Amino acid sequence: MLRIGCHLSFSKGFLAMAETAEEIGAATFQFFTRNPRGGAAKNWERDDIQAMLDVFSSAGIARPLAHAPYTLNACAKDDHVRSFALETMADDLKRLEMLPDVMYNFHPGSHVGQGAEEGIRLIADTLNRVLWEEMHTTVLLETMAGKGSEVGRSFEEVRAILDRVELSHKMGVCLDTCHVWDAGYDIVADLDGVLGEFDRVVGLERLKAIHLNDSMNPSGSHKDRHEKIGKGCIGLEAMKRIVTHPALRGLPFYLETPNELDGYREEIALLKDMAAD
Ligand code: FE
Ligand code: FE
Ligand code: ZN
Repeated sequence: MLRIGCHLSFSKGFLAMAETAEEIGAATFQFFTRNPRGGAAKNWERDDIQAMLDVFSSAGIARPLAHAPYTLNACAKDDHVRSFALETMADDLKRLEMLPDVMYNFHPGSHVGQGAEEGIRLIADTLNRVLWEEMHTTVLLETMAGKGSEVGRSFEEVRAILDRVELSHKMGVCLDTCHVWDAGYDIVADLDGVLGEFDRVVGLERLKAIHLNDSMNPSGSHKDRHEKIGKGCIGLEAMKRIVTHPALRGLPFYLETPNELDGYREEIALLKDMAAD
């Protein structure tokens, strides 16, 4: 069974997200740990988390994915911007210990002219300061479209970060279909080839989650504009090959398409259908 869900708003807390997921037929979901602009996180209540876990067991929901604010930049040039990313990630990871079986996804960052190599060094340095041996959460690097000076635009850059992380067994990768397509990986004409390359460069055992998005732009555009499933340049046939690919079987899929809840409900039903026949 395809474990698919979508990005949900965290504004009403954990239980509300689980209830919404159940309502729209989602078997998982993603949420921002705090306002995406990176403000203060509100208190996380144990009762609210327990109530969410109760809905998880009755509704078959699992593997929620926490997403760091996308404005964090762990490889910024400015010290303050970098420390803010470090402190926010450290705080998020401490809080996430309240949840069993959760993963934490973040955008590696933008090197802002320092060069990819320096960016990679700074990102790994941040990770080496926020990870600890006893933590339960797996931390995921998201593959990026290569907009501006984004780091993580190639599988090689992702691998280079992982190689520099001391507790690298705490780390995995989230592959965003819109981002890798925009970065120039042709998942429409050659999905097998792209996944084979991911395996050679990073290792498929590192792949822990998929962000399932269509793209408004052609491959190699480095734009990062998500489109509804089947309405963009990736298209429905390629989406079907992705959700049924044997190498991706069992992974959780998260939609980040431009939709309200009704749109997500339809996409989830469509993709479940495609994966079933
Ligand atoms: Fe993301
Ligand atoms: Fe994404
Ligand atoms: Zn994106």
